[in-house]
Amino acid sequence: MRIKPLFFSGGAMNTTLTVKTTSKTEFIEITGDVQKAIQSDGIDDGVCLLFVPHTTAGITINESADPSVKSDILMVLNKMVPWKEAYRHLEGNSPAHIKSSIVGSSELIAVEGGRLKLGTWQGVFFCEFDGPRTRKVHIRLL
Ligand code: ZN
Repeated sequence: MRIKPLFFSGGAMNTTLTVKTTSKTEFIEITGDVQKAIQSDGIDDGVCLLFVPHTTAGITINESADPSVKSDILMVLNKMVPWKEAYRHLEGNSPAHIKSSIVGSSELIAVEGGRLKLGTWQGVFFCEFDGPRTRKVHIRLL
């Protein structure tokens, strides 16, 4: 699980992070990478749109101080959506698609003074539901 920030797709307003996941399901904190991307864009105030262009992954904001919180969320999601069920999708990864829809594929965060305006305990997490894979998170400052 390592995050490699990549900057491409032209222009200061758009950035894409590459996230390499190493497990079937995992949450990877990307708060620092998003913050770095915003600072390199030099925009002080606005709104940061984060978008995950995948159907078996997602993005969420939750507590980053205690790592057991993300483990608990994953544990419950995995119980809510069992791997073995009478799914019809032939690819065999319906649970990952379902979890992606539950968690969602975007977040909006206010930016003030060049910083993400997150709460004290909040972090931004990339959510892998069908890894390991190489994933993307698009960042746009509005
Ligand atoms: Zn599928």
